[in-house]
Amino acid sequence: MMTTVRFAPSPTGYIHIGNARTALFNWLHAKRDKGRFILRLDDTDQARSEQKFADAIVEDLRWLGIVPDDTVRQSDRFALYEDAAEKLKAAGLLYPCYETPDELERRRRLRLSRRLPPVYGREALKLSPEERAELQSQGRQPHWRFLLPNFEDDPFTPRPTIVKWDDVVRGPQQVDLASLSDPVLIRADGTWLYTLPSVVDDGDLGVTDIIRGDDHVTNTGVQLVLFDALDLPRPRFGHHNLLTDPTGAGLSKRTGAQSIRGLRDDGLEPMAVASMATLIGTSHSVEPFEDLNRLAQIFDASTASKSAARYDEGELQALNRAILHELPFEEVEERLRKLGIEGPDAASFWRIVRANLDRFDEAAAWWAIVQHGPGRIVPFESDDDRAFAKEAFEYLPGGVWDETIWKRWTDAVKAASGRKGRALFMPLRLALTGRRSGPELADLVALLGRERTLARRP
Ligand code: GLU
Repeated sequence: MMTTVRFAPSPTGYIHIGNARTALFNWLHAKRDKGRFILRLDDTDQARSEQKFADAIVEDLRWLGIVPDDTVRQSDRFALYEDAAEKLKAAGLLYPCYETPDELERRRRLRLSRRLPPVYGREALKLSPEERAELQSQGRQPHWRFLLPNFEDDPFTPRPTIVKWDDVVRGPQQVDLASLSDPVLIRADGTWLYTLPSVVDDGDLGVTDIIRGDDHVTNTGVQLVLFDALDLPRPRFGHHNLLTDPTGAGLSKRTGAQSIRGLRDDGLEPMAVASMATLIGTSHSVEPFEDLNRLAQIFDASTASKSAARYDEGELQALNRAILHELPFEEVEERLRKLGIEGPDAASFWRIVRANLDRFDEAAAWWAIVQHGPGRIVPFESDDDRAFAKEAFEYLPGGVWDETIWKRWTDAVKAASGRKGRALFMPLRLALTGRRSGPELADLVALLGRERTLARRP
């Protein structure tokens, strides 16, 4: 069976770097097996789901290099969930409950005081048809619970029931169904909780591998037995560690923090974000990869650690620089053109400037400096320095203009002025670029040529 994975965000906000991690784990896992990747929009909560977020998810994934083989939305698939619910009801595995949240809370406290596990006691199973009718006539609408198979004959005496699976990420895992309440699958207002639609879709779409955050480990115990109850084959499961912010707090779509969109607007390279989102919190070093295919070659979900990983923006910035420094001209030619950087100088310009960029777009400012000089006000550190720089231009050597010009020039200036080191180079750097740091001056001067260099005389 072809490896089929899915990424299942709800379109209730912009995806963040932690969501991107889930998407990438799935994409890379499928890529290695030449499998399929499905984007499933979990939009059963129609009040909170928005089209603009659904569109943004597609766009943000594409920016990261992920193009789904198929996209489905749960709001188109309610009929399938109804069928599955009917099937469970007919088998006596989905039963109506009428308790209010207050009643449930009271019962929970009572159980705790009696040293019983604080799980739902299945009281609603004891209701007679007449009692149900009576509750309904009082206007109570039922919510529906799935009867967990954690008992032999009597549902009121649950027994330890271990569900095991070999987790793609974490290795052997188990959940004891006796420690769980029968999960609510349908709310009193008729809306779906995520559990049943997810299982129905995974079965219907032939999903073979479910990789998601480790906040879902317990859900997996329930979902595995739901697959069984619906006669669907059990998929493989993998649960990766989550990312936190630098304070250790979880990332949230609601706050918009660390959103992929924000990182993109901030000018970061997609592969810096993708390399970071994938490799952080694994035993592989966090290093830049040039594309997802390369990343797929080394990707191994089982190298993810079991504890949460702290996402550090500084590390991402460093990765971004490292990626820019390696980008060959051929790959960025088009992007440079969009910044107005083109013509015979463009390739050498990129070669000498890329190592000085935090962000790709900063190339534009350097291009302006190369073309037009540092601007009128050059921040020399003293009048002396200005006078020195002015005079230094007298010593520009004649003859061929190539990479040796800088050394020949500064040797002559050094001999004439007695200046050396920073006192020699900084005023020249400032005269040439207006900035205290930047590309190798030997390369820059070679690129500028005689005329543009002379035009920079203070
Ligand atoms: N919509 C669910 C979530 O975002 C999907 C979980 C899953 O992958 O099964 O948590």
